[in-house]
Amino acid sequence: MEPSSAATVSAGPGLQPAPADLLRRLRARGAGDPVTHVERVPARAGVPAPWPPWAPPELRAAFARRGVVAPWQHQAEAASLAYDGGHVVVATGTASGKSLAYQLPALATLLADPRATVLYLAPTKALAADQLRAVAALELEGVRPACYDGDTPRAEREWIRKHSRFVLTNPDMLHHGILPGHAQWSGFLRRLAYVVIDECHTYRGVFGSHVAHVLRRLRRQCARFGATPVFVLASATSGDPSTAAGRLTGLPVTAITEDASPRGGVTFALWEPPLLPADSGSISPVPPQPTGDHDDLRQVRRSALRETADLLADTVAEGVRTLAFVRSRKGAEVVAANARRALDDAVPGLGGRVAAYRGGYLREERRELERALLHGDLLGLASTNALELGVDLVGLDAVLICGYPGTRASLWQQAGRAGRSGQEALAVLVARDDPLDTYLVHHPEAIFGAPVEATVLDPANPYVLAPQLACAAVEAPLTPADLALFGDGAKEAIDQLVEAGALRQRPTGWYWRHRERPEVDLRGEGGAPVAVVESATGRLLGTVDGGSSHFLLHPGAVYLHQGVSYVVDELDLADGCALVHIEEPDWSTHARDVTDLSVVSVRSYVDAGPVGMFLGEVDVTSQVVSYQRRRIATGEVIDTRPLDLPTRELRTVAVWFTLSPQSLTAAGVQAADVPGALHAAEHAAIGLLPLMATCDRWDIGGLSTALHPDTEAPTVFVYDGHPGGAGFAERAYGTASAWLRATRDAIAECGCETGCPSCVQSPKCGNGNNPLSKPDAIRVLDVVLANLPA
Ligand SMILES: [Zn+2]
Ligand SMILES: [Zn+2]
Repeated sequence: MEPSSAATVSAGPGLQPAPADLLRRLRARGAGDPVTHVERVPARAGVPAPWPPWAPPELRAAFARRGVVAPWQHQAEAASLAYDGGHVVVATGTASGKSLAYQLPALATLLADPRATVLYLAPTKALAADQLRAVAALELEGVRPACYDGDTPRAEREWIRKHSRFVLTNPDMLHHGILPGHAQWSGFLRRLAYVVIDECHTYRGVFGSHVAHVLRRLRRQCARFGATPVFVLASATSGDPSTAAGRLTGLPVTAITEDASPRGGVTFALWEPPLLPADSGSISPVPPQPTGDHDDLRQVRRSALRETADLLADTVAEGVRTLAFVRSRKGAEVVAANARRALDDAVPGLGGRVAAYRGGYLREERRELERALLHGDLLGLASTNALELGVDLVGLDAVLICGYPGTRASLWQQAGRAGRSGQEALAVLVARDDPLDTYLVHHPEAIFGAPVEATVLDPANPYVLAPQLACAAVEAPLTPADLALFGDGAKEAIDQLVEAGALRQRPTGWYWRHRERPEVDLRGEGGAPVAVVESATGRLLGTVDGGSSHFLLHPGAVYLHQGVSYVVDELDLADGCALVHIEEPDWSTHARDVTDLSVVSVRSYVDAGPVGMFLGEVDVTSQVVSYQRRRIATGEVIDTRPLDLPTRELRTVAVWFTLSPQSLTAAGVQAADVPGALHAAEHAAIGLLPLMATCDRWDIGGLSTALHPDTEAPTVFVYDGHPGGAGFAERAYGTASAWLRATRDAIAECGCETGCPSCVQSPKCGNGNNPLSKPDAIRVLDVVLANLPA
């Protein structure tokens, strides 16, 4: 965002133990050593570069007034590539100054060519507003930057279309407003020199696939007016940014990934809470359940929340300014309360120096919080990542991250909060009881080595392509020349639209037949989105896509919205709305479904002797049948409650593997244990897929069976939970051996005996995690890996 600048905080009062000493004291506290890895991330001096020769003095002076004396190497390199007409994506860390990389070529061009225009796209209005402030602050003559979004008053819109040369908007506005009104925008589009796509890693999955086609529609309109703009993209650190940006824009994109901005040194520890003894009294026994599953025999780890609370208490006792990131607001409160209690037990009154931060504070309250932390009145703060939005904290000595936040980008963003100017800081990732967290604390190379997760999207998804082609046809009739632009599957999608009576084929192309435009929601995913409404006030809190609504909005579900907790009273599927009331119970809810699956077609496969690996279309029938309530503080299961929801059909993309029964017998898996072996492998494989692609396990479903009628073999299916697929299964197929190797290692390295939530148990299993066989799952995966080409 902002060009990186040096931290401004002077060392405050209190002790300042060296991170290594502090860590030594923290880990010496319990019986075993919970630390699985310590990484020293060295301080890095920035590598400045000279201003590119084409950057006009006027622009250099404007940046200098904002405190940017010279660009960093990566900024200069990306800017020059773009200025020379190449499409480029800058994928570097937080606060590495990505904005300068696109502002420099875009603004230099606006200054050199008084007619040229720039279109900037951000995923949120808030980010666009931030960028508007940054560009406006440069006070460049004749640029007239302006935001154009749903909040822009009608009266200003025409002025912006006619006079602004730097328009900041979002993909939704481009889709709903600018492209349908291209005639009014023709002057702007004709002169369009640059399209800037900020935070482009947020365009993933089905939403990303829609945005990819909105950009193709933009390119098509520009081409009609004779413009071929250069695309400059900014991304968080991610795997293979060049491919992801290429898929998003449909253009060849060069990636700049070498971060040349300066950063402070961090000692980064990976922390795994200990397994509790099987007969531990600290966890209440799980009540017997109707499904007769074996949850009551499971071994559990000490909860990450409790562990984080203890660490917070210990660091605060040392006088270390510490921020703990916790996923939910309730969780943040539990951490703060436990830390306060522990501190007050040790030194009465010390607990008062720990607080919980909940999203939604007023601006003045946030500033007060910042002040208290800066002056040392407050030493410890537990927060959800809502803190990323609007609180400016500097001068922290330590950051505790309770549970892997889902992506390396967020992990580094949170860890990046630690470190005062010129001083070393400590970051600790505390693993939750979950296969991915467990894998990561035992495989530091997956965190500190090369980036592993890629942003995936699938523009060929027919459920996205067809409605997008309909929108394109309204904007201008489609011609055979457009087929290449919209890519694989475009011709088939057009034929279907013709057949359905939406398009008419004429000698000059395909025409939209209706009076109204098609209604296409970029964020909707096939099923109509469900509105979440607060009953008492009638206020619309947000929408949930139809596909997830049964999971997230069933009656009794605890629904989190911007860190605030609501409980669902009623899910009205006919009206597409869920009525909720504000409430913060001590439990979270976890829905369970039952699934049936049939293979529709095979897109690609690998025949590896006794093992087959497939990618193809499948029909999934599923029904959410019950939900569990679990205590937030301990993870203890309170009860399982039945639900009465209809079944749903989903045509999607799946990856699946089969094994011959003989190979399983030869590997020592008894016939009776095959279902438990496959089921356990399926759970762990789903848990580890986020390592390969930026999805979470709620985006993915699975099914395993000792004999599937379509494959006629023992089979494990993993499918995209979105109609038409979102690219996750495809990515899994493309990285199958690495993905299943990580899955195998995660299971084998887990210290439990019979399987636990850290390895083969799943929080969303429809069969109550029964049957599961941990040792046989390893045998199954060994057979697959031994036969599958790397
Ligand atoms: Zn385990
Ligand atoms: Zn299951």
